[in-house]
Amino acid sequence: MAKVHNYSAGPCILPDEVFKEASESILNFNNSDLSLIEISHRSKDFVAVMEEARALVKEILEVPDNYDVLFLQGGASLGFLTAAYNLMGENKTGGYLVTGSWAKKAAKEASFMGNSITLASSEDKNFNYIPKNFSINNNIDYLHVTSNNTIFGTQIKEFYKGDIPLACDMSSDIFSREINVSDFDLIYAGAQKNMGPAGTTLYIFKKDILGKSSVPIPTMLDLKTHAEKDSMFNTPPVFPVYASMLTLRWLKKNGGIKDIEIKNQEKANLIYNEIDRNSLFEGTSNFEDRSNMNATFTLNNEKLKETFDNMLVKENISGLKGHRSVGGYRASMYNALPVKSVQVLVEVMKELENKKA
Ligand SMILES: *Cc1c(COP(=O)(O)O)cnc(C)c1O
Repeated sequence: MAKVHNYSAGPCILPDEVFKEASESILNFNNSDLSLIEISHRSKDFVAVMEEARALVKEILEVPDNYDVLFLQGGASLGFLTAAYNLMGENKTGGYLVTGSWAKKAAKEASFMGNSITLASSEDKNFNYIPKNFSINNNIDYLHVTSNNTIFGTQIKEFYKGDIPLACDMSSDIFSREINVSDFDLIYAGAQKNMGPAGTTLYIFKKDILGKSSVPIPTMLDLKTHAEKDSMFNTPPVFPVYASMLTLRWLKKNGGIKDIEIKNQEKANLIYNEIDRNSLFEGTSNFEDRSNMNATFTLNNEKLKETFDNMLVKENISGLKGHRSVGGYRASMYNALPVKSVQVLVEVMKELENKKA
């Protein structure tokens, strides 16, 4: 392991020690001679895992006491619907900031039980920027944003601060930088970008949103159902929750959000400086909105593509291909990606320039 520089956009790289410990748990969990995946989720040992995972989220993100933390299923894609159901108020209207494909999908889900209003969209420029200074209609029950646009490589740097409840899909940058949880009424994130394997979705929400929706909520989509049962209403995805807990332990041990944010900034600076310096490459997203998690860029000369791609293979750089809707390349630099991997990529970009000269 660690020989491959893994730039996969998600599922993605996790710390080596997490892979190791997580695999051990499949064969022999807590020296019980039983596998993690063959014991009851109500057993003392698994309940302790769920409790530690929730506690670590609270500790690492400094979640205030009037918030709850749950590990559910369905991915962020079900979160689109869950957010809408739980936040619909008397206007039965959600306001959406449409900054990418995921945001667009989130907006669509709201229309299944109420009105979905697009407050601003950057689709006119293939989502390469974050709209700002748009007006917020007072008749919306909540504002929904996507903190980081995984596909297009843009990231919200400053969040809305106002009276309207704020919901955020934080799938691809949660735990990557400091946030003020109290700015949000609801945060949700699929685990597989910065926290663990696919299969669990993290929800962080203000307890007082519960039970206030103006639409009837099916049991499994009602956050109240899960909050009342401490995230154990039905069988939780035990392995993804366990592996997420291990990643959170790793994050805490390595200095928490403060230190990882510095490291993530360092990685982003390395790649963006090279994209800007090297005449063969061009960044695709608006300078001030650039994502520290997913750097998107293209080659100016398509004829060099094969050469560059071969060089990437030779250096064991994997997963750099851009999303089909943007093309080019995308360097996803999630928490577990070492600075070293970015240095190797930057060297390859320099080498291509030298080759060409
Ligand atoms: C990956 C991603 C999703 C989709 O997550 P699923 O867990 O596959 O449903 C949604 N939003 C964002 C921002 C993502 O990066």
